[in-house]
Amino acid sequence: MNISNNIKKINEKIQICCNKLGMDPNEIKLLAVTKTQTAETIDRSLRSGISFIGENKVQEAVNKLPNLQEKYSEFHFIGHLQSNKIKKLIALRPDLIHSIDSLSTLKKLNDHLIELDLTQDILIQVNTSGEDNKSGLAPESVLAFLKNVQPFNNVKIRGLMTIGMFTDDTEKIRSCFKKLRELFDSVKLLDLKNVKMEFLSMGMTNDFEIGIEEGANIVRIGSAIFGSRV
Ligand SMILES: *Cc1c(COP(=O)(O)O)cnc(C)c1O
Repeated sequence: MNISNNIKKINEKIQICCNKLGMDPNEIKLLAVTKTQTAETIDRSLRSGISFIGENKVQEAVNKLPNLQEKYSEFHFIGHLQSNKIKKLIALRPDLIHSIDSLSTLKKLNDHLIELDLTQDILIQVNTSGEDNKSGLAPESVLAFLKNVQPFNNVKIRGLMTIGMFTDDTEKIRSCFKKLRELFDSVKLLDLKNVKMEFLSMGMTNDFEIGIEEGANIVRIGSAIFGSRV
């Protein structure tokens, strides 16, 4: 597995995609999804141009991040957050949590942040595909959710995240991403307190180009960098 070559290829694809759209490729954050990879492998990716890493399990991140020899510029949490793992996660000082979809978790997160006198940037995860095995708020409940979180001043909502439908039908995937983009644009117009629509996290190994075409500025890529997870 030539990680360095894989990263180069992905960056080229991002560049081609951005050129077509008249965008600056530097506007796209390539988040390397390092779940299941060892600290040594993650170090290799960090030496090969990766700056942003994402993990989906708190305990796994707790075990690995202190063992990294190389510096990363940002650590993102992208998995389902159980409320009993909040303290451990915040101790790792994540730059962004992509995956908040429950008011009770958000409240507990806010309480813990108050104790520490910290704020935390988060994204709201939206289930745009309607598949019931996926986490995330239903698109139609996002606005009400955002209005409910206004009092929680230590949590800063910076955008939205989704996982595209698992299908070979690219038009179905595209319609998931379009839905998230439309939601993003309509929330932006509302100018809500503690809510700033800056990041659209959508697109993984199989669909990141569609994500970028539909407005993503964070793509989360694992297997195209590290090979398929077994
Ligand atoms: C695993 C994972 C990814 C990366 O998936 P690949 O298909 O390997 O690129 C992206 N986002 C989330 C939330 C994940 O859990």
